[in-house]
Amino acid sequence: MPTYIVLLGPPGVGKGTQAKLIAETTGLPHVSSGDLFRENIKNETELGKLAQSFMNKGELVPDDVTISMIRGRLSRPDCKGGALLDGFPRTTVQADSLASLLAEFDGKVNYVPYITASETTLIERLSGRWTCKAQGHVFHEKYNPPQRTGVCDFDGSQLYQREDDRAETVTRRIQVYFAQTAPLIAHYREGGLLSEIDGAQPIEKVTADLLVVLRK
Ligand code: AMP
Repeated sequence: MPTYIVLLGPPGVGKGTQAKLIAETTGLPHVSSGDLFRENIKNETELGKLAQSFMNKGELVPDDVTISMIRGRLSRPDCKGGALLDGFPRTTVQADSLASLLAEFDGKVNYVPYITASETTLIERLSGRWTCKAQGHVFHEKYNPPQRTGVCDFDGSQLYQREDDRAETVTRRIQVYFAQTAPLIAHYREGGLLSEIDGAQPIEKVTADLLVVLRK
């Protein structure tokens, strides 16, 4: 049976950073809806143009578009053994579609680690965040600085500040999270899948807590 992990938590809590580390340890592919949209923006596809108009405002991309993108990604051969989902699902409609989609692959959501942090921490994390152009590796100017300013430690590519990490958009993204994504916490808790993890801890400690959850 394939293994599917849904990494839940507000923007800026460290889902992307942790997903990259956990993907290495578990061997599961890291499927990030935000990264897939950014790849489409970089390649100037129709999907990218559509997504960008929502992303720059801090709004969610419509469910039908997002779901079909994820369906395409999870259907690829590297996801045969499962996947580590980061940033998807973000609405109850997406969560229901995911359940149906995984049933087609004879799978289901197996683990939902829910990483939390205070709103002050999230804002500080997002506004100090630098992202690598090539593969989306993330750094923080204070808490996780790259060895050389402006250069990715992993692939040497240039670091940039995401347009939606600017102060005005950050506030909106957090509001959208509470309105549209937070209901998934109760949804997965009722299904007995949720494990809460304190995302205010240092990166290594959050990874260690995640691995404990995933070994259960
Ligand atoms: P992220 O990289 O996960 O912070 O996502 C960046 C932006 O991409 C979000 O603010 C949304 O505009 C869009 N996005 C990413 N994932 C989803 C999703 N599951 N549903 C709708 N929009 C999404």
